Amino acid sequence: MITADVAVIFPLPIRMIRNIIAFYSVKLSTLRRNLQMNPSRLALSLLAPLIIAVQPATAADKVLNLYSARHYQTDEALYSNFTTQTGIKINRIEAKEDELLERIRNEGANSPADIFITVDATRLAKADELGLFAPVNSKILESRLPPQLRSNDWFAFSTRARVLVINKDAIKATDVQNYEDLANPKLKGQVCSRSGAHPYNISLMASMIARLGEAKAEEWARGVVANFARAPKGGDTDQIKAVAAGECGVTISNSYYLARLLRSDKADDRKLMEKVTIIWPNQTNVGAHINISGGGMLKTAPNKESAVKFLEYLASDDAQRYFADGNNEWPAVPSVVVKNVALDAMGKFKADPLPIAMLAKNSAAAQKVYDRAGWR
Ligand code: FE
Repeated sequence: MITADVAVIFPLPIRMIRNIIAFYSVKLSTLRRNLQMNPSRLALSLLAPLIIAVQPATAADKVLNLYSARHYQTDEALYSNFTTQTGIKINRIEAKEDELLERIRNEGANSPADIFITVDATRLAKADELGLFAPVNSKILESRLPPQLRSNDWFAFSTRARVLVINKDAIKATDVQNYEDLANPKLKGQVCSRSGAHPYNISLMASMIARLGEAKAEEWARGVVANFARAPKGGDTDQIKAVAAGECGVTISNSYYLARLLRSDKADDRKLMEKVTIIWPNQTNVGAHINISGGGMLKTAPNKESAVKFLEYLASDDAQRYFADGNNEWPAVPSVVVKNVALDAMGKFKADPLPIAMLAKNSAAAQKVYDRAGWR
């Protein structure tokens, strides 16, 4: 019986074999005590490391442990498609971004997580700064994803724009064409915003810093704060509602929140959208600020081969459609076209080509600028 099991050892990695030898050395030194056990307990005790060692060899490439901060209806199809194509089963844990990051950190070297998926470059940057991601070399990812939408360690799989939204009756569209206009004293008491501590606004500020420099970006932030209709509160949808209700004249929102309201099956949501106009910012200069949702392979991933396959799968035509459309976003792979009535209705626009990695790089400075400017 032992001969048969030992034969299974040989395909195992050298490190595992060394561990097994070390285990038996310890066992032999205590053999005298072990011999006093009953025979079946002794046999089980001697076979234990073989059983443990063999398990990962058979299961290793059939499972993928995914920690995801995404939770959209179309994700079911996204994941089941991967399992159908590769035979790799996905174990998914969904929670809020910060909770997942905390969990991965707490689990440390023993974390079962292979892939971490989240939204916003700032959050991916945080995971990267914590040293959680492993570099991935993949010809597929390199050729499918534009260079500005990937770093060495993480990859963008969909994009969203941060746009301006005005109340049709309160503000003239010609007065708000650029992010810079939000600081114009003409808009005093008209600007609503979510907190400056939120990643969406931090990424926007990171792009302003890249473009204008920190001093000018701070001047802008002070100007916007001086125009606030109220202290920052709520999420992007709350700002859109406040603009529609006339509580403020203008706000900034991620594009998918607007698309969601446009596509909503609730009449009230669609009525809300009749009160507002969406403005693609900075179209005559740099283009609208773009952010992403994406992910990377974790350094401690127990199933690295599956993890790379999964990242490559996310860049495939089908997966790109599911991934982007699930949250009314645009695919990261330029050749993939999504049919989305709301996004189509919002029209074409010029996007800021700033590399996403720059947002990550400037995010710490961005938070400090908001703090100094009082954009709480
Ligand atoms: Fe969001």
